[in-house]
Amino acid sequence: MLEISKLVKRYGNDEPVLKELDLVVEGSSVVSIVGASGAGKSTMLRCINRLVEPTSGSIRLNGTELVNLRGGALRRARRKIGMVFQGFNLIDRLTVMENVLAGRLGYVSLYQAVTRRYPQQDIERAFTLMERVGIAHYANKRADALSGGERQRVGVVRALMQEPEILLADEPTASLDPRTSEQIMKLLQSLAQELSLPVLINIHNVAQAKAYTERIVGLRHGKMIFDGAPGDFGKEA
Ligand code: ADP
Ligand code: ADP
Repeated sequence: MLEISKLVKRYGNDEPVLKELDLVVEGSSVVSIVGASGAGKSTMLRCINRLVEPTSGSIRLNGTELVNLRGGALRRARRKIGMVFQGFNLIDRLTVMENVLAGRLGYVSLYQAVTRRYPQQDIERAFTLMERVGIAHYANKRADALSGGERQRVGVVRALMQEPEILLADEPTASLDPRTSEQIMKLLQSLAQELSLPVLINIHNVAQAKAYTERIVGLRHGKMIFDGAPGDFGKEA
């Protein structure tokens, strides 16, 4: 469970970008974060994985406070947070399998990439996940040989390799066509169910948010202006 309480983020001396945000997300629910550009969506996700330092407030993941963690404790906490990106963030020159295994390591050691010395159990886990999302037959292809939808599946599997307790997706469909977007959104939904994983998706496409998620959180100027069912979104503007 993710529990965000009174989260404030201020860059420098500017007006806060997040203004005392509260949000609770339980296991296996998929939440879309929508809002105009600049509303604070990316800042919120980056506060959760601590790419951005929150100014104040609390972010608890299954009881562990993430704000103010340092050093080894922060690295351990980050491993529980899977991240999926708009631009996939794959390493083009490496194979699909190597990209996926990078999720286990948290980084790719050139030595390991060259010698392929990965623990057998990691390779097996990678194959299981790749089969689940339909990319196992591409395991030894270079990442840049794949289509956008396939590359995003690699991104999802890489995020799942670390056995995360939450999955964050920052505009995961923004580089994809509508049909492929639908497949990726449905995949995230079913994985959330299968793995009892909360999934937070930043998405500017309100139609996609409505179609493929069960809960929408609307941000405007760093404040939550909506939290509810997709069917109710946009009614009381
Ligand atoms: P969204 O993801 O909804 O588009 P962002 O979280 O990217 O919103 O940005 C929210 C606000 O914070 C914007 O006004 C943006 O200019 C500002 N901002 C984002 N990152 C930084 C930064 N590193 N330094 C200063 N201001 C930033
Ligand atoms: P813009 O700055 O582009 O005019 P707004 O700041 O008015 O957009 O709205 C921010 C986001 O909130 C938009 O993505 C918009 O689609 C969405 N939105 C529209 N109606 C509602 C509503 N009733 N509740 C919550 N969010 C809404």
